[in-house]
Amino acid sequence: MRNLAVSSLAGLVAVISTAQLKAQSAPPVTLVKAGRLLDPRTGNVLAPAAVLIEGDKIKQVGAPSQVSAPVGSRMIDLGSATLLPGLIDSHTHLFLDVIVPPEAEIRRHENGTFAPGLLMTIVESPTKRALVGAQLAREDLESGITTVRNLGHSGIDGDTELRDAINAGRALGPRILASGRKLITRGEYVQNLNPALADGILQQEFLLIDGTDRARQSVRQNEFQNVDVIKVSADENLTVPELAAIVDEAHRAHLRVAVHAIDANSIQTAIDAGADSIEHGNQVTEEQLKQMKTKGIFLVLTPTFYGGFFLKITESSIVMSSAMHAEEVASAARRNERYAQLVQRVLKSGVKFAAGSDMCWFYPGKTRGQASTATFLNLHQAEMPALDVIRAITVNAAEVLSWQDRIGGVEPGKFADLIAVAGDPLADITELERVDFVMKGGQVVRNELSSH
Ligand SMILES: [Zn+2]
Repeated sequence: MRNLAVSSLAGLVAVISTAQLKAQSAPPVTLVKAGRLLDPRTGNVLAPAAVLIEGDKIKQVGAPSQVSAPVGSRMIDLGSATLLPGLIDSHTHLFLDVIVPPEAEIRRHENGTFAPGLLMTIVESPTKRALVGAQLAREDLESGITTVRNLGHSGIDGDTELRDAINAGRALGPRILASGRKLITRGEYVQNLNPALADGILQQEFLLIDGTDRARQSVRQNEFQNVDVIKVSADENLTVPELAAIVDEAHRAHLRVAVHAIDANSIQTAIDAGADSIEHGNQVTEEQLKQMKTKGIFLVLTPTFYGGFFLKITESSIVMSSAMHAEEVASAARRNERYAQLVQRVLKSGVKFAAGSDMCWFYPGKTRGQASTATFLNLHQAEMPALDVIRAITVNAAEVLSWQDRIGGVEPGKFADLIAVAGDPLADITELERVDFVMKGGQVVRNELSSH
């Protein structure tokens, strides 16, 4: 506040201009009407529905007869469409867009499908990388993904800076929870690098854990970049004391810890060290599911390799020999069987779960948003009921992000992040691939359902 006692005239001018400013900046009010509104938490459908929005927040939700908008409000009528909360991708990589390399190159390198693309991304221009990240973020938003948790692979500050640029209105994209650099042990992701260059390259992308002191320091380095979450990759080299030190340091700064863990040993390390979420979790045992349920640890499913998805990306990217094609078809079938079992076991166990696209691949013919949404729907192919799929990318995801007070539902007090689809997503989950209306924080991003 300004000190108004300095001079009466100056004071009066200050009061008037403050009042004028207030009148000019009164938050805009919008009334959105639609045939149906799905509440993912309860599964209830309100039909017809009206949502009153003031500024960037939802003020009131109810039947149109019960929700009245003040004179001069903007009105958006979406006809018979179904409204849902904006989608949340709990695990993505906006700064990686790996093109599947040719077969000979895949065979020549360790981790040959992923590593060449990752290395080029790290050693090329950080500006180029930032601009690709901005494009992929915009594409996610246009498909209805209004919040993402970006878990690594964004250089030193790509995701924290893009988050801030979006929040400041300099770029268009979803809300971002940024992890900064991924904490890893030596020996993951890219092996066999020239020792004279390796450290410089790896430090652009990762913080190396080597003992509990380095583990704590890594968290603090990320805190300095103002991250929202800590991402750790667990493998056989990571010890429980190292991960426990990370969790302790992160929790002291009120940051949650997301742990990439695929095999049963790594999953046990994550459970024993007190991780907040386990990412992927493909080989989780029954006993581990019980422990996770007891401790309230979330499982973030990433069905990226389910439903022949990776085969589709590869087929549309490169020419394969018949031998490689046969290998890919066989491994897709194996993955499908294992993943369907995992999904059923998770549903039965009662463990808390959400879903992430883990998208880091260039998918010819699809935007990043379209590719990410398609991976969510793989869960339904693995026989997860449609309502549970929707929960995994709305209400449950909000809880993983610890943002359940802000997003994940169309409820008063939450951000006005809304999407609409023409049909009924509970009857046909692929409706989510055809999102026709996107609003983020009360601002319309896309509207193909009505003139407004
Ligand atoms: Zn990932």
